[in-house]
Amino acid sequence: MGRPATATINLDALRHNYRIAQQLSGSGQVMAVVKADAYSHGATACATALADIASGFAVACIEEALELRAAGIKQPILLLEGFFEPSELEMIDQYHLDTVIHHQYQIDALVAHPLDHPVRLWLKMDSGMGRVGFAPDQYRTAWEQLNDLTFVKDIVLMSHFACADESDSDHAQQQLTTFNTYTHDLPGQRSFCNSAGLVALKEARGEWNRPGLLLYGVSPFPETHGIEQKIKPVMELSSAIISIKDIPAGSSVGYGSHWIAKRPTRIGVVAIGYADGYPRHAANGTPVFINGYRVPLVGRVSMDMLTVDLTDVPDVKIGDRAILWGDDLSINEVAHGAGTIPYQLLCNLNRVPVQYQGILIPDYADFDEVGI
Ligand SMILES: *Cc1c(COP(=O)(O)O)cnc(C)c1O
Repeated sequence: MGRPATATINLDALRHNYRIAQQLSGSGQVMAVVKADAYSHGATACATALADIASGFAVACIEEALELRAAGIKQPILLLEGFFEPSELEMIDQYHLDTVIHHQYQIDALVAHPLDHPVRLWLKMDSGMGRVGFAPDQYRTAWEQLNDLTFVKDIVLMSHFACADESDSDHAQQQLTTFNTYTHDLPGQRSFCNSAGLVALKEARGEWNRPGLLLYGVSPFPETHGIEQKIKPVMELSSAIISIKDIPAGSSVGYGSHWIAKRPTRIGVVAIGYADGYPRHAANGTPVFINGYRVPLVGRVSMDMLTVDLTDVPDVKIGDRAILWGDDLSINEVAHGAGTIPYQLLCNLNRVPVQYQGILIPDYADFDEVGI
């Protein structure tokens, strides 16, 4: 047994959420974003659990892509930042990877190192994110250079939203207008939407959509939105109560002694802390779910433990489960309490053993034909 902190990953929920993303995409295809170890859910396990239904997978770098190929994933795999140096082109060729092209140095590398196999490229426009991608007025020249390469099979027209999670975002509309204006007469499939765009910006849905967070059952919107009723959280982060004590009013709890009991208080200690990825900046009052009750975090989160106020919960015992986020407690609430976003909470997960529930290895015979 050992330390009780655990991340439980429900792969059936992941498949459910993929199907929701597929419904939202209509006739478009869904590229499941599994970068950063599938937002800490385990890229190999998640891709394998989706392998018979997903149209493709997207990752941040070649190391992440090769992990999926080694696990037997046959679908297209997209490198979302493209390649960093020309030496990666050989593996892109050998492992049939799709790559984003966001800068002239990548085009120059392709010209200098022709590939042996046909490749699909995703040409990225900076339509207003202000990060990577070709400026709108340079996009066509980039497209023409790629189109001249004989080994380039397809060029997907791609961009990325900066503010799709804000309701009524003028900025998102502007980005879409810019993208459409500068691509309207270019042939090829289009891809604009991350999770928030896919849910909120119907007119931006393209032949390919690229949800990440949504697949893990987390709403991309800071405010309440209907979508959280449809998706199911994939991860439950839990641990257990390892100490309970009654303290008088006026006693302090935790590092810095900055939380002081206003009343006689029953304090519970939960075996999870910031070394596990629980945010140290979670404010007093951030909820923890114990025995059907939401109890407030009190005192500073330590490296391996945190403390909660159990005074109002009857019959809590040592060993009872404490849920930090999951079905019963939205990770968005915890992110709000910590002044961050659910993406960061998921990606920061550390040290916690991961347990899988639901389908893990579908029968590969069923989808031998899928993919490249
Ligand atoms: C990470 C990423 C996504 C997925 O974003 P979510 O908000 O998790 O849906 C989509 N596209 C690109 C280019 C990304 O880098």
